[in-house]
Amino acid sequence: MEKYIDAFVNSFIGNMDWTWRSIIFDVPWHMNYFWGLTIISLIVWTLEITFPWRKEQSIFRRDFWLDAFYMYFNFFIFAIAISGFYKFLGLVFNDIGISSKSLTIIDLSAMPMWGQLLIFFIVLDLAQWFTHVLLHKYAFLWKFHKVHHSVKEMGFAAHFRYHWMENIIYKPLKTLGVMVLGGFEPEQAYIVHFAAISIGHFNHANIKITWGPLKYILNNPVMHLYHHAYTLPKGTYGINFGISLSIWDYIFKTNYVPEDSGSIELGFPGDETFPRDFFHQNIYGLGKRKKE
Ligand SMILES: [Zn+2]
Ligand SMILES: [Zn+2]
Repeated sequence: MEKYIDAFVNSFIGNMDWTWRSIIFDVPWHMNYFWGLTIISLIVWTLEITFPWRKEQSIFRRDFWLDAFYMYFNFFIFAIAISGFYKFLGLVFNDIGISSKSLTIIDLSAMPMWGQLLIFFIVLDLAQWFTHVLLHKYAFLWKFHKVHHSVKEMGFAAHFRYHWMENIIYKPLKTLGVMVLGGFEPEQAYIVHFAAISIGHFNHANIKITWGPLKYILNNPVMHLYHHAYTLPKGTYGINFGISLSIWDYIFKTNYVPEDSGSIELGFPGDETFPRDFFHQNIYGLGKRKKE
């Protein structure tokens, strides 16, 4: 038992130390997610201000600061705590004889780096697309995902407004994806992580980009705005589930973009009574269900 506790504590402290050293520029630039996230945010925000899609939307839109807080909270604070938890799980799996290599289907290590990164990106994105579908399909998961859909005015930082439980819900399939690929992230996986952050920021930004014919492959702000639509097409529990790639929605016929004015109402039926502050949003869905 002691080694489990040690693994958790060491990983927790190690991550806290890493985060602090990132802030003071004491880690290699390509692994500096703190400043990476900050710079990507400033670039996308500048583009929003310069080329706004909804021109009447304020630069400091509704809940701007709430979402800015979510961004750093979800990216760092929780990552610090959860990394310890997964170190702990890793040890447990190891002890019962499941190694990260036992599920390998595609061995990435035999490929050139660009191939490794591309496949890593695609597999991880598919795992997340599928998890996202589940978040909409099942009521007990939708309760948590409602936080992300409580955004009423869309801007880049809304990308990171989500319930802390989503960090946990996304992890199993993402981990499975990594295991299928040989159980480790490619050496330059940071390129994929930074690309995913940038694409996610753009998808939520107040900028009208559709990428032309590439829209069938790449997710975009017009398509993702409809994912946040208050009124869904009849008979669906959601549309446009794509994270970085839109291709899964076109393959599985969950795509829906009827127009591109950017003026649709966002949210979900009942969001009038949904908590508005960080604390109550993050305890939402935990505990006993109240009568609705
Ligand atoms: Zn969603
Ligand atoms: Zn979103």
